[in-house]
Amino acid sequence: EEEEVVEEEYLFKVVIIGDSAVGKSNLLSRYARNEFNLHSKATIGVEFQTQSVDVDGKEVKAQIWDTAGQERFRAVTSAYYRGALGALLVYDISRCSTFDSIARWLDELNTHSDTTVTRMLVGNKCDLETLREVSVEEGKALAEAKGLFFIETSALDSTNVKTAFEIVIKEIYNNVS
Ligand code: GDP
Ligand code: MG
Repeated sequence: EEEEVVEEEYLFKVVIIGDSAVGKSNLLSRYARNEFNLHSKATIGVEFQTQSVDVDGKEVKAQIWDTAGQERFRAVTSAYYRGALGALLVYDISRCSTFDSIARWLDELNTHSDTTVTRMLVGNKCDLETLREVSVEEGKALAEAKGLFFIETSALDSTNVKTAFEIVIKEIYNNVS
């Protein structure tokens, strides 16, 4: 009998959460299309972008979801989280209120998904060093306390954007394969 070689397919859902205007939509547009918008409005229509990543020679597809502005009304629904294997919890390093909100976002994530979800704490807008309100140490400490990966990014100048998504995608791959 001939052995059948089946190409495995990997499709991972990753969600981006965090307060309004922390840069979630720009992180996604920078990663998926290398685009940045200075005056971005809530994206209408586009729910997610699919991005292919090579992991250990395998093609992995990440379906990355953006809230499309629902977070403004605290109305991110359970459908948004359903089936997610990864999450980026984003705050803005120049607004400490967005960092304080992370605990609430983490609670919401925990309510809607199980603990095996790969979680990355993302301090975005690290280009705004002169306006910084949250230190790197505070970010690291929270991540350690809550068992999250941690990275600072800038969707504006591209710092660590690809790395942030790909650490999450590779970790999911390692967990499922
Ligand atoms: P969202 O509401 O979380 O999706 O945030 P947006 O992606 O719409 O961004 C909100 C605002 O922050 C926009 O004016 C963006 O241009 C700006 N922004 C997003 N990312 C960065 C960044 O890394 N650095 C700076 N300086 N501004 C950013
Ligand atoms: Mg947005």
